[in-house]
Amino acid sequence: MNAKTVIQISILLDEMYPHAVCELNHQNPFELLVATILSAQCTDKRVNEITARLFPRLNSAEKMAQLTEDELIPLIRDCGLFNNKSKNIIATARQLVALHGGSVPQTREELESLPGVGRKTANVVLANAFSTPAFPVDTHVLRVSQRLGLSSEKTPEKVEADLCQLFPQDQWIKKHHQIIFHGRNLCKAKKPLCNICPLRNYCSLFLQESGIKS
Ligand code: SF4
Repeated sequence: MNAKTVIQISILLDEMYPHAVCELNHQNPFELLVATILSAQCTDKRVNEITARLFPRLNSAEKMAQLTEDELIPLIRDCGLFNNKSKNIIATARQLVALHGGSVPQTREELESLPGVGRKTANVVLANAFSTPAFPVDTHVLRVSQRLGLSSEKTPEKVEADLCQLFPQDQWIKKHHQIIFHGRNLCKAKKPLCNICPLRNYCSLFLQESGIKS
């Protein structure tokens, strides 16, 4: 994709979603880490309902580390994959207490060494808890980036690499949120609302389906 088109898309995203932010409610890095682990294959809305019950009691690694899986599962049962998530959240909390004084580490390497924390979760925490430039690629970012033509890659890692090349580093966090908002609002998985999408004149998929050469 040429640089001019990227700039146009970027400007339109700024106009469409000027206030796009992380929608997982959290008060500290540990809460964000837990909410992000819970968000795998679950909506942010559902995660926020669960964490509204969870965090008043369990808002630190020290407190979470004392729980057993049998105690945590009933509290997170609504979010799917709860057996795995419960195991990972408790193991992560215990590792934070044992190795990091109960704090969430601020490097990718340390984050990714935590149970249940992959590249996307590490990126979400780096970007939203520590304002460290990162471009988390979730299902919305993957789909929208491919449709727009920002990347022709198939894996989140390779799409992330393309996005990091296309956008200046100081825009990564904002663009990530804006693309998620766009995926939720207009560029929906099953039925994208192309006819009312302000990005359509720059969108590879729309131009291709309309028979217009991009
Ligand atoms: S034109 Fe359609 S496919 Fe392209 S970004 Fe907009 S909603 Fe998505």
